[in-house]
Amino acid sequence: MRLMDPLPAAERHEVTAGDGVPLRLTRYQGGTKGPVLLVHGAGVWSGMFKLPTISENFVQYLVRHGYDTWLLDWRASTQLPLRQFSLDEAAEHDMPAAVRKLREVTKADSVQAVVHCAGSVTFFMSLAAGYLPDVRGVVASQVALHHRVPRSTLLKSRMRLPDILDVAVNYMSPDEGTQNPRLQAAFGKMVDLVYRECGSTVCHRLSFLYGRLYRHARLNTQTHERLHEQFGRCNMQTFRHLAQMARAGHAVRYDYGKEENLRRYGSAKPPDYLDPKHLKLPITFVVGDHNQTYLPTSSELTYEWLREANGAALYERKVLEGYGHLDTFMGSTASRDTYPVILQALEARA
Ligand SMILES: [Zn+2]
Repeated sequence: MRLMDPLPAAERHEVTAGDGVPLRLTRYQGGTKGPVLLVHGAGVWSGMFKLPTISENFVQYLVRHGYDTWLLDWRASTQLPLRQFSLDEAAEHDMPAAVRKLREVTKADSVQAVVHCAGSVTFFMSLAAGYLPDVRGVVASQVALHHRVPRSTLLKSRMRLPDILDVAVNYMSPDEGTQNPRLQAAFGKMVDLVYRECGSTVCHRLSFLYGRLYRHARLNTQTHERLHEQFGRCNMQTFRHLAQMARAGHAVRYDYGKEENLRRYGSAKPPDYLDPKHLKLPITFVVGDHNQTYLPTSSELTYEWLREANGAALYERKVLEGYGHLDTFMGSTASRDTYPVILQALEARA
């Protein structure tokens, strides 16, 4: 393991979302390429891009290649106060505010983005709704607007598990420090019986909540031992919205129930986000062929749908062999295996 290259000093920028929610941007100015916005998933924070436990993390890698790198902590971040929200709210208010702030500080005409999991879903909802005209290229990790989940996840979604748990708790978390220690201990005992691949209850709770997030062989020991530093609370409304999309098979607005849907949307069922007209920009889909959180067919469906609608030239899809979901960024050798694939897409429109 070689020593990490030091990062340039972090610049913090406070951002206020369109509806007043405080967000955070952290900038590592590695050069003049980009600027590139990194958007994390749900139940994590921007730390997923700058793990201290691997020889070169994604931020170090981008900085080494001369990128002005911006990490967004949007309202799903475990480093921000917990709140209940639908991904519609984040799509409408967080992503546009982040892009605006980034452009304001850098004076750039447009930005690139690397977006992952629920962050990618939300970013694509924002793009599809026409909120992000200043984005000139996107790398979408694992999933975008179409959702195909493993059978066990679909079963939990169909059982309305988030709705049932919502009665008892207002968030789910893999770690020990929760509002209901007895329930969390019972949750730990249950998942330890189901998942046997390692001795970590935190890891087992993650597998239950999100499907298997990484291939163990891809994580080094330190990363696996320090999972609790990367993962935290995910609010129940977001779980419910993700489950609704898993059941629908694609991105839809939050389902409030017939009466409230009629009031808000003018239709009994929530509208979807499948409008390709604002998605006429270069998009690279990257996906681990062993992904057990969102099946690889998820991004294939969005990719094929966009090619059909807007022509093949703008879109590409790269399969990361031997990778799962989050190991795309957290894997011990990701800087050799997966980062170069993402870099290639960024360089094409640097
Ligand atoms: Zn494990």
